[in-house]
Amino acid sequence: MSEFLALDVECAASGWGHNDRVPVRMALVNLHGGVLVDKVILPTVPIFDSLEQYTGLRSDEIFETGEPMEEVQEAMQAHLGPHVTLIGQRVQFDADWLELRKGTHYRDVVDLADVFKRWSQKRNHFVHFSLQEAGCALLGQKTPQTHDPATDAKTAMALFVSFVLGSTETSLARTRARLLNGTRRYRSERDRAAHGVQGAGGAPHAVCHSKFNGNTCTCGQRTFDKDTACISVN
Ligand SMILES: [Zn+2]
Repeated sequence: MSEFLALDVECAASGWGHNDRVPVRMALVNLHGGVLVDKVILPTVPIFDSLEQYTGLRSDEIFETGEPMEEVQEAMQAHLGPHVTLIGQRVQFDADWLELRKGTHYRDVVDLADVFKRWSQKRNHFVHFSLQEAGCALLGQKTPQTHDPATDAKTAMALFVSFVLGSTETSLARTRARLLNGTRRYRSERDRAAHGVQGAGGAPHAVCHSKFNGNTCTCGQRTFDKDTACISVN
C-alpha cells in the first residue's frame, strides 16, 4: 500500500542566475499534515543571497543551524521507501536536490503543478499555478510574506487530500476552473503586498527567478522546457 508524503525543499542562491541554487532547507510532511522532518541544510558553497522570502532564513542562520546533507538524508531514511509517493509543487526537483532515488526512496511523485494545470484555448498553451496561488484560491489561505518548507509541504498535502486524492476528471476540471478564477485575486493581493518592498525593476544585482519563464529571465541561463513552462495568468 502506498504512503503519501509531501516534500518541499527551498534553495538559496549561489549566484545571480536562476540556475545558481543550493538546497538549504527541507521538510517532509505526512498525510495528516504532521511534520516528520524539518531541517536546515549546511551548504558546501558560499551563499550569494539566502532568498529569505523563500527560505525564511538569513545566510548566517543557515550556516549556524545547518546540518550536513548526509545527516539530513539519514533523518529522512526512516520515512522513505519504495512504497512512498511524494507530493509537492514540482516535487521531482526537490527529490533530485536531496539525491533521492526512484525505486529506493520513493515509488513515484505527484506534481501538483501538473495536476492543476489548465489548457488555455485562447493562448494555445497550459496555464500553471504556483503553490501559493492554489493555497489562496482553493484553501482560502492569505498571501504569506515569507514561507518555509514545512508550511509549503503542509499546503501541498492539504491540496492533495482535498482536491486530488480520490478525485475524478469532472471534479478536477471544477477545481482547475476555481483555481483560474481565484488566481486573479491572489495576484492582485500579492502585488499590493510586494509594492514598496523592492523596486519593481529590481536592483542591478537582483537574483533572477525565471527558471520557468524565458520571457522574464534577466540572467540568460537556460530555462526549463517550454512545454511545461510556468506561464503567467495575468
Ligand atoms: Zn534567468
